[in-house]
Amino acid sequence: MSGNLCACCSDTLDAPVLAGPTSSGLCRVCRDEPPPFVRAVAYGPYQDHMKAAIHALKYDRLHAMARGLGRMLAQAIAQLANEAPAEMLVVPVPLHRTKHAERGFNQARSLAAAALAELRETHPEWRLTLAPRTLMRLRATESQAGLTPHKRRLNVRGAFEVIDSSLVKQKHVLLIDDIFTSGATARAAALALMRAGAASVCVATLARASRVYSNRRGETVRFDDVEDVAVMPGLVPAIASTHAGIYSSHEQSSF
Ligand SMILES: [Zn+2]
Repeated sequence: MSGNLCACCSDTLDAPVLAGPTSSGLCRVCRDEPPPFVRAVAYGPYQDHMKAAIHALKYDRLHAMARGLGRMLAQAIAQLANEAPAEMLVVPVPLHRTKHAERGFNQARSLAAAALAELRETHPEWRLTLAPRTLMRLRATESQAGLTPHKRRLNVRGAFEVIDSSLVKQKHVLLIDDIFTSGATARAAALALMRAGAASVCVATLARASRVYSNRRGETVRFDDVEDVAVMPGLVPAIASTHAGIYSSHEQSSF
């Protein structure tokens, strides 16, 4: 991710619709509704090759992709090196057990494992422990794709539970997923961790989907402001070169 980014969620501030009027360094979403995580980082925009690679891993089950993608995720995590605690529990966002059974694996866990293997080489001083059995997804939530941001929040609210809170109490947590779109999933999972007593939660994802779109009238709108699902198919990414995330009905199932 490059350019002028939100100091908290790393979304682009290059679009005025995201930045809003102040110079706080935060995007409007983080200012209006501070997230339960300290910071979210991503390797790059959810587009082109990145999108194809994530698809290949998730839907075509090309597990060989996890290694290269994990290296990229490691680079995203390395952005936290100066500010994150030296010791963290690394928690992949879980799938619901029915989804897990259907897919056969959790891509977030594969990516986290690959990233940790890389970070052990590049940042040996960092003590990161993979803790995949920390969170549980309680409900087989409806796919987030095709939902407005408001419905996405309702869809994942209360969807996560910490399995054994004694494992996260006072611990710093690094939450991992493949794609960050509206942030609803990251918020819900981070909230569950904080309520269970975690000291802090940071989030790292491979890709970041755009929240800036042009509607049918050619106006620039923020994805978070779209409350009518009927208009969503008419939205096209507004910042094509640096930050295009293309909305489609199958692609953003985890966020
Ligand atoms: Zn933000």
